Amino acid sequence: MVKQLVAAQNEFFDTQKTKDVAFRKQYLKKLQQEILDQEDAICDALYADFKKPTFESLATETQLVLAELKLAIKNVGEWSTPKRVGASLSNFPSKDWIQPEPYGKVLIISPWNYPFMLAIAPLIGAIAAGNTAIVKPSEFSEHTSKIISRIIRKVFPPEYVTVVEGGVEVSSELLAEKWEYIFFTGSTRVGKIVYKSAAEHLTPVTLELSGKNPCIVDSTAAIKLAAKRIAWGKFINAGQTCIAPDYILVHESVKKALADHIKDQITQFYGQQPESSQDFARIATSKHYEELKVMLKDQNLLLGGDCNDENQFIAPTLVDEPKMDSSLMEGEIFGPILPIISFTKESELHGYISKYPNPLAFYVFSSDKKFQKRLMDRYSFGGGTINDTVVHISNKNLPFGGVGQSGIGGYHGKYTFDLFSHHKSISKRGTWLDVPLRYAPYKLPIDWIKRIKHLF
Ligand code: NAD
Repeated sequence: MVKQLVAAQNEFFDTQKTKDVAFRKQYLKKLQQEILDQEDAICDALYADFKKPTFESLATETQLVLAELKLAIKNVGEWSTPKRVGASLSNFPSKDWIQPEPYGKVLIISPWNYPFMLAIAPLIGAIAAGNTAIVKPSEFSEHTSKIISRIIRKVFPPEYVTVVEGGVEVSSELLAEKWEYIFFTGSTRVGKIVYKSAAEHLTPVTLELSGKNPCIVDSTAAIKLAAKRIAWGKFINAGQTCIAPDYILVHESVKKALADHIKDQITQFYGQQPESSQDFARIATSKHYEELKVMLKDQNLLLGGDCNDENQFIAPTLVDEPKMDSSLMEGEIFGPILPIISFTKESELHGYISKYPNPLAFYVFSSDKKFQKRLMDRYSFGGGTINDTVVHISNKNLPFGGVGQSGIGGYHGKYTFDLFSHHKSISKRGTWLDVPLRYAPYKLPIDWIKRIKHLF
């Protein structure tokens, strides 16, 4: 089946239909309408998958995607228009321009944690840029995958855009094909597998991967507000957010105050019994639930720690001074467990932060501008926020993505269009003049050529 779909998409791309901007716009609008029509059903699917609260489904999945669609529909014409650039003297006379062109067939593989948004947001850019696409959503968010499949089937003919559902086997089968672009969101481990497959065909990739994101709080921070913003960013989606703060590094002089305020915030957000809260999600996969339970073992808990195997609930949990060689501090936590580590001198921070190279996100809470700048300048990370968490993702003017271990490439807004476009450079030469100097036999004295400035 995969081979047939790929062949059909090759053929369809070859018709050149997707190069027509009006055609792309028409389908983006159809997609927009269908998502609007299905918004409640999408929220229901997300709830069925991991009890994702409806507010969070709207705010972090459907509305985010609808905003991307609105922007793409409004701007696809302008984005697709070739851009004139200045000519160089060596090419005189010429007109030079950059022409965005679609790559061809795009493969989008997405994970289960924001299962709707992470499948559809890249697709919008892929379509806006004029590609065909196959989307492979996660097998672990099956209700959402089903509705994604239904929506795509209703809006697009399969030779243009289609969904292939399934797990690792299906994903591997898709990766064995030749694509013109692969967009992968998921773990760093699988990212490496995708990168290897892409290398076989020299296919360009975007890899949206993971990291262990530090959240540094110094003694000058507005502690109560920091606690609120950290608790929000950590426990939204039950901590299953790739850019959630993973662990806190807090100055010892404000550690107790910060921990107390975070505890208060958790109670304010989810009540005394978070398991009964309508606003707190569950762990989406049993495998990950079991891994998180292991992370809780032999830790000093300040709050939480309760688990319920029946519905994969893990309470918002604070861990005091975790053992650095424990599984909690080995890799990304990706759940509602927040370790708090204290430091006394700024010089101690490097030992912790450098242990986990290239985090996807980086957070600093401080009112000391020099401290903020020192940290922002020193470390390499995908993106970050000063005095808040997670919100850098919500500005479409900021490309979202990782670096090094946390990924390759950035998207959102126009960046998604650019990412799915090859920027073709074209120089159109005039024929009324042909300066003979470049042709052999070379007559220009060598020292002249060194002296001519602004030739290139
Ligand atoms: P995952 O890497 O296990 O799976 C992602 C996708 O890859 C799924 O569709 C899955 O079916 C497929 N897949 C899994 N194993 C495969 C294999 N061996 N070969 C080919 N395909 C395979 O990730 P996940 O568990 O679904 O998602 C959680 C991870 O994703 C976390 O590490 C999280 O940080 C990361 N993530 C990153 C971002 C980002 O924007 N950078 C966003 C969300 C999640």
